Amino acid sequence: MRGIDIVDIDDHLRKTGIKPSYQRKAIFEYLMNSNCHSTVNDIYMALSSNISTLSKTTIYNTLNLFVDHNIVEVINIDPNEARYDIVREVPHGHFKCEECGEIYDIFLDFNTLPIKDLNNFTIKTQQINLTGICGKCNEK
Ligand SMILES: [Zn+2]
Ligand SMILES: [Zn+2]
Repeated sequence: MRGIDIVDIDDHLRKTGIKPSYQRKAIFEYLMNSNCHSTVNDIYMALSSNISTLSKTTIYNTLNLFVDHNIVEVINIDPNEARYDIVREVPHGHFKCEECGEIYDIFLDFNTLPIKDLNNFTIKTQQINLTGICGKCNEK
């Protein structure tokens, strides 16, 4: 998969001012290695058998902490469930297929998008969310 640019999770969390506890590292690692766009439930299902003390509340709070420190972002592509993605050096957009529900990463250069109305604006968040029917479903 694309964009594994964070090698040392311990170091990455420390640098952003987060104490790298075992659970936090496990959650971050899961987000990094899974196909991203996980929900709290996905993370719970994947990790709770290994970490018996893990609760959904812990996951939720940990994700909020990550979001506050700008190393994880909430993808607002799904109105029913918050999905979480690692903030990578290169931002990317998302496409959600209405047919199969799959969320695809779209890599595009946000900085060269010709947005003429934002001269003298300061952009703090960048999200591009598209929905429709994916190529696989269109072939069916
Ligand atoms: Zn599809
Ligand atoms: Zn993504």
